[in-house]
Amino acid sequence: MNTPYLEIDLAKIFSNTQKLVEMFGARNIDITGITKVALGEPKIANCLVSAGIVSIGESRIANIKRMRQAGVKATFTLIRTPSMTEIDDVVKYANASLNSELSIIAELSDSAIKQNKIHDVVLMVEMGDLREGILKKDLDETIDKTIQLKGVNLIGLGTNLACFSGVKPSKTNMDKLSLLAETYEKKYHIKFQIISGGNSANFEWLFANDDLGRINNVRLGESIFIGKETLSRKHIEGLHLNAITLVAGVIESKTKPSLPEGEVGQDAFGITTAFVDKGDMLRTILAIGKQDVHVPGLTPLSDVDIIGSSSDHLILDATRSPLRVGDQVRFSLDYAALLSCMTSPFVANSFV
Ligand SMILES: *Cc1c(COP(=O)(O)O)cnc(C)c1O
Repeated sequence: MNTPYLEIDLAKIFSNTQKLVEMFGARNIDITGITKVALGEPKIANCLVSAGIVSIGESRIANIKRMRQAGVKATFTLIRTPSMTEIDDVVKYANASLNSELSIIAELSDSAIKQNKIHDVVLMVEMGDLREGILKKDLDETIDKTIQLKGVNLIGLGTNLACFSGVKPSKTNMDKLSLLAETYEKKYHIKFQIISGGNSANFEWLFANDDLGRINNVRLGESIFIGKETLSRKHIEGLHLNAITLVAGVIESKTKPSLPEGEVGQDAFGITTAFVDKGDMLRTILAIGKQDVHVPGLTPLSDVDIIGSSSDHLILDATRSPLRVGDQVRFSLDYAALLSCMTSPFVANSFV
């Protein structure tokens, strides 16, 4: 296997998915499995499906198209509000989409009518995190107009918290969402199939409350792949933490000083670093860099320290456990590091 590569343990992803489906299922909450961190890789999507996921959510329509064309057996929801330029593809490849703009929903409806389809729509409500969402004061009008459109079917409400501003899912904001659902069901004589309460940050709320109101769905990515909830990045008991690891190869390993020689200015990325004199150290260079991975999200799985990186080089202090040219070093990844590696054309995938 050429380095660098991601080692993807499908058995661990399967086990994480199955446990989460059980845990949330016991509280009558369905999971939409979010594949965006995996670029909609069909092997990974199929793994989620075999572990009990029936609904897959993706932020990119190209990834939904990829999974559809590979024959992944699930319903697909586009979880980022569709762009004006991708409306026809959204209707063609996705069963549903999360939406926050009426003008987009109207386009989806027109396209669905043309394609002889009905496109399912979930309205996203702004509950304080200030990323996507319809303001509560505008929700009434949006629902009223959406249900008049012939090409779309309004199937539910959703919200997204803890993504942009870090606002916690709480009993207060979740109950508010339930109340909004009930208010508008009564007003418009409709029944929402899905009230989607959030993402991997909803874990604590789920287990801290007996009454979950109308919430019957969460959209989970990080907890499936990383094994953690996302409010305080706590390990979810029983889940694997390293279902996906990164392997990179050593291209230089030499004992060098820890202090640079000569006058020091900015580095390649415009940063001036203050180096500490630790005497001579075994400085080991791996053939991976900022272009491939979000370096702060890496944790070495052996007894070495990351000193720094440039576009194509990652520099380790391997004094305590010496490395030689050709050796391979393994890392644990956080969500940002995983996302960057998956997206780099220079990092391969190896499935075990
Ligand atoms: C990415 C995303 C999710 C999944 O979030 P995780 O923290 O990975 O569970 C859920 N909903 C939306 C709208 C998203 O963009």
